[in-house]
Amino acid sequence: MFVPVCFKVRGQTRLTPNLPAPKIAQPLEELMASHLLQIDTDSEIKKRLEAERIRLRQIAGLEPPKHFHRPVERAFTAEERSRVTILFGGFTWKHEDLIRAVFQSCGYRCEKLPVPNVAAFQTGKEFGNNGQCNPTYFTVGNLVQYLQFLEKEGLTREQILNNYVFFTAGSCGPCRFGMYEAEYRFALKNAGFDGFRVLLFKDSDGIKAASGEPGLKFTVDFGFGMLNAMHLGDVFNDLIYQIRPFETRKGETDRVFREAVDGLCEDLRNRKSFEIEERAPEWAKAKFKSNKVLRNAFNVFGKWHEHMWGKDYLNALRTARERVDSIEVDRTRVKPVVKITGEFWAQITEGDGNFHMFEFLEREGAQVMVEPIATWVAYLMYQAKAHAIAKWPVNRPHRAPKWYEAQKHFANYIGLRKKLWAIGAGQRMWNFFYHRTIDQLGGITHHLVPQTELAELAHPFYNQFARGGEGHLEVGKNVYYTIHKLCHMVLALKPFGCMPSSQSDGVQSAVINKFKDMIFLPIETSGEGEVNAHSRVQMALGEAKVKAKAEFEQCLRSTGKSLAEIQDYIAEHPELRRPFYRVPHREGVAGTAAQFVLHVSDRMDRQTKFWKRTRVPGTAVATASGG
Ligand code: SF4
Repeated sequence: MFVPVCFKVRGQTRLTPNLPAPKIAQPLEELMASHLLQIDTDSEIKKRLEAERIRLRQIAGLEPPKHFHRPVERAFTAEERSRVTILFGGFTWKHEDLIRAVFQSCGYRCEKLPVPNVAAFQTGKEFGNNGQCNPTYFTVGNLVQYLQFLEKEGLTREQILNNYVFFTAGSCGPCRFGMYEAEYRFALKNAGFDGFRVLLFKDSDGIKAASGEPGLKFTVDFGFGMLNAMHLGDVFNDLIYQIRPFETRKGETDRVFREAVDGLCEDLRNRKSFEIEERAPEWAKAKFKSNKVLRNAFNVFGKWHEHMWGKDYLNALRTARERVDSIEVDRTRVKPVVKITGEFWAQITEGDGNFHMFEFLEREGAQVMVEPIATWVAYLMYQAKAHAIAKWPVNRPHRAPKWYEAQKHFANYIGLRKKLWAIGAGQRMWNFFYHRTIDQLGGITHHLVPQTELAELAHPFYNQFARGGEGHLEVGKNVYYTIHKLCHMVLALKPFGCMPSSQSDGVQSAVINKFKDMIFLPIETSGEGEVNAHSRVQMALGEAKVKAKAEFEQCLRSTGKSLAEIQDYIAEHPELRRPFYRVPHREGVAGTAAQFVLHVSDRMDRQTKFWKRTRVPGTAVATASGG
């Protein structure tokens, strides 16, 4: 037991709990007087504190603490670019192909990892730590598996260590995402690839190897190229899942999209970088050569323009759009719309990591509504803004300015505004370029969901400042898609052992209680249990199918026409069988077929009215289907 002792620091009397209690009871004043110490300097305080810490540790039998230091890794240097291959993975094949093309256009050798499978999961478990979440095992095991494959192909370990690096995103948590980097290193070491380099994407200072010289440079070309790649990947992914369920020739969607993505990759890979020294008129070239600031400024705007509005890029987009628009679709097929939410990786991967769920849903007759990665980026920016506002009372430069200290008040005001304007500009740019890509690729892809609304809808159930994983997004999306009637069922895919997803699952029961017509199914994905998961989805999908069918029949009845009449009209109007034919959205109707018959019926009515108005007296009225 210890009692407080008093001592003097620069003339002031203070108490410290650092001496053992006397054996017999003593009055406090006496005790304090008997232990009165004279300490005059900060260094003396530190010295005594340290001595006391050591004494107490010795009593408790504790070793002095050894702090963890991140292992120093060989740098990936600029000179290595031509011979070292960058490996990456974790997205859909569309994103990955486009990202690889951007790397290649910037002069890097790059390869994507295969889609993680159950064998990768087992490899991850074998070489990784216990108690990790599902994506950790899949992704870590996938990398180890790939390196083992290279070894089987005849490369030595030394060649693998020297000629390959892995590129991945890093985070500081709060969920297990913060441990991924360490997990990769741990598993690689256990698998015999100690020293294999893991490059982290850091948003603060660009992209650097874990130590030493930056081998990956976050150049303007690389940044805009990646922006385009991510947006194109999202839009293509959404389009595929919107078109494939309605294709009339089986397999056509996959074939056409393969060609379209390859075409765009070609453009991204071979695009010539804008350099003002080459593009400027002869008389100005010398000026740009000698003036670095001027050259850089022109280059930034020139590259931006080239990436976003360049003739080659717009032509490549037009070609892709025309290719996709050649697919024939039949949108009168009634299908329940299943909105996919859940954990970032589990809702994106298209393999064993989520039990091939999208493929299964389509086989079962559903239309899948996938989530773009752009929503996640929009969420991060929205959260950055909300956190800046919430923390400003602590972070502001002047805590308690007097009422007359106008300068300090202004500094407090403008400091926050500057932060919010910067993030706001980023948000506007992100949204603008994403929606612009949608317009350039047919205009039928889903727009980004407003983040403010998501946070407001989720907040009664899930505090928006509870960080980790998808945060409040899972709950917010569930409510959003239900109250706006944008889908028939919400399917949340979450990996086993995912902490944030377990949290949001906990509150989803309260959400379901409030929104009675909601069909919500959380599925915990794992390396095993596929049959069980599929059968649970089948049951919920049964309900969603009934819902979709009832909605369709009600809409068809409201038109006063039969399905055969509508189909006859469609058969005579080929534009209605094109995927990019725009069907205006009706509030309160979720199904594609229901929306479509309402629209076609309106068109038929308008045409009938037109013919009635323009017919020559005495002739018969043309039928709507007769056009
Ligand atoms: S969100 Fe869940 S599954 Fe994803 S890294 Fe974090 S803990 Fe793992």
